[in-house]
Amino acid sequence: THFGFKTVKQAEKVSLVANVFHSVAAKYDLMNDVMSMGIHRLWKRFTIDCSGVRPGHQVLDLAGGTGDITALFSKRVGPTGKVILADINESMLNVGRDKLRDLGLVNNIDYVQANAEALPFADNSFDIISIGFGLRNVTDKDAALRSMYRVLKPGGRLLVLEFSKPEYEWLSKVYDLYSFKLLPAIGGLVANDKESYQYLAESIRMHPDQDTLKQMMETAGFEHVSYHNLTGGIVALHKGYKF
Ligand code: SAM
Repeated sequence: THFGFKTVKQAEKVSLVANVFHSVAAKYDLMNDVMSMGIHRLWKRFTIDCSGVRPGHQVLDLAGGTGDITALFSKRVGPTGKVILADINESMLNVGRDKLRDLGLVNNIDYVQANAEALPFADNSFDIISIGFGLRNVTDKDAALRSMYRVLKPGGRLLVLEFSKPEYEWLSKVYDLYSFKLLPAIGGLVANDKESYQYLAESIRMHPDQDTLKQMMETAGFEHVSYHNLTGGIVALHKGYKF
């Protein structure tokens, strides 16, 4: 049946994504720097700057992985605030926890293994939710967005940082060449893991473009949804509010 087919495909995606991130966890940070030539750090900083974060805020960094975004938030919410780094993948969480502890960030961070589709938090818990380069890996994105909406406080905002659609035709072509040819090759050389980086390139192509994602956020209940293209639309930051 159609349903049976869909279920198998979804189960396949879930275990594929799990394997990819178990496999890349140890080399994840290095690969991010190599593949983006360090630019991912700017995209992440921009996200924090757009978040309206203040001391005392409760922040959920969803699909937080190795914790870059958590680290930036942790410094901004101060000792009275809290950041929860949530990720479905234990290997990524372990690498993140070790890294943040080495940075001396210990007092206002909690770690939770959780699936974005069914968040284990009470309604109206967070002032800010961020999901950085995570949504495209989630099987049921609509369920995940609804779940984020539920746990966000009224007045709170969601920030989705994700690969998107390049704004210019020439940039699309260069980027295609880069991500389908060069990126898996670099993944093979640096991380000895060509397949995982092939998956990443494909998942970037499959991800909804700027306006589709905006629509999806609105369908989940978010209001005043807007986006900001970064690096010519290779990445976009979407912002939405719960009122
Ligand atoms: N946010 C980090 C960053 O920007 O460096 C990590 C991004 S990494 C590309 C994507 C993360 O999404 C992985 O750590 C993966 O385990 C996590 N992930 C995938 N599916 C998920 C799900 N359904 N729920 C929560 N996390 C998920």
